[in-house]
Amino acid sequence: MAGHVRRPEQVPISGPDLGSAEIEAVVDVLRGKALSQGTRVTEFEKRFATYIGAPHAVAVSSGTAGLHLSLIVAGVRDGDAVVTTPFSFIASANVILYERAVPVFVDVTAPSGNIDPAGVHEALEDIAAGGARADRWLPPVLGRAAPRRVAAVLPVHVFGVPAQLKQILHDAQRHAAPVIEDACEAVGAEREGRRVGTFGRAAVFAFYPNKQMTTGEGGVIVTDDPTWDRLLRSLRNQGREGDEVWLSHPRLGFNYRLDEMSAALGIIQLARLEELLAKRARVAGWYLDRLQEVDALEVPSPEVPGGRPSWFVFCVRVRTGIDRERLMQELADDGIPTRPYFQPIHLQPVFRERFGYREGMFPVAERLGRSTLALPFSSTMTEGQVDLVTRHLLAALTRPSVRTP
Ligand SMILES: *Cc1c(COP(=O)(O)O)cnc(C)c1O
Repeated sequence: MAGHVRRPEQVPISGPDLGSAEIEAVVDVLRGKALSQGTRVTEFEKRFATYIGAPHAVAVSSGTAGLHLSLIVAGVRDGDAVVTTPFSFIASANVILYERAVPVFVDVTAPSGNIDPAGVHEALEDIAAGGARADRWLPPVLGRAAPRRVAAVLPVHVFGVPAQLKQILHDAQRHAAPVIEDACEAVGAEREGRRVGTFGRAAVFAFYPNKQMTTGEGGVIVTDDPTWDRLLRSLRNQGREGDEVWLSHPRLGFNYRLDEMSAALGIIQLARLEELLAKRARVAGWYLDRLQEVDALEVPSPEVPGGRPSWFVFCVRVRTGIDRERLMQELADDGIPTRPYFQPIHLQPVFRERFGYREGMFPVAERLGRSTLALPFSSTMTEGQVDLVTRHLLAALTRPSVRTP
């Protein structure tokens, strides 16, 4: 548009919450010169396991690395199926492709956006039955023989809202498929009196700078199984058996280690986690106060049965009649960044091309994907910034240009 001027960003979409303790902890590592495989990683793992209430924690270089290793230890092999959600960050399904396995998507439920336990039940039963019943769930294009079995179930606690796992755990166990929780968006979330990460055989957390706590890049896998713990440690460290034996590599491994600077940062962030989560919940509360009664929007619920969410993002959903793309543009012009979380994974090019997934196959995920709008959100956001964002949002919603005919 001629004469079109976009204002610079008035507030960041997200950002870490770092104090002088974090800076000192990292500088301390640099002074000590042990930058990898030192004491900080071990200490971070111990403290993280204690926080979650899990027997073992293994630090890795990213959440994606953690999910990848968990699938390997679960026994996922070439041509196996892994049941997961299409409404997530793409990493939770990419890791299935790393092991040349087949992603079997089960649609989500609204409003939570988490995988539908009834759908998982049906998918597991039908794939075990084989034939036409299995075909209902398998991707349109396989390029090889149909999967023999479901080797793992990978639910995601999306946006920090704990998924309902009771039924899924029961069904997965019946089919001998370990459940791996993708808890990358949900550190500290609780449901039915339990902390996220203690439901499955393993759970993975991530610490990219937009997450609730950060290590720069980094992640942790927690598990209740000592064999998993041992294998995960080997796989992250080039397949070595034990941390000491440098030139013995009994299995194919990776370099997925977390470094000492990241672990030192993680130790401080973890000690501050309850504070960080409380600050995020307060920011979410400011948004809810201002947006609850707005007809054009659906707001997230802070209620979780017997628990609490861990606010990763603050997402609203625009109702029918609002053009989400147009609204995002108008807000961007006003200097308010937003994100269209999530474009469903089955519609991403790699998944369309390899497996023949198309529009219409997972209608709930697609509807959520078309209507969800993530607003600027972090623990450092002030009430004034929330005011600014909501004022621009409410003004934009009244413009005829954002209304669909
Ligand atoms: C962030 C995230 C990941 C991956 O974490 P990285 O540390 O960026 O690799 C995986 N799954 C979900 C749902 C995430 O949000």
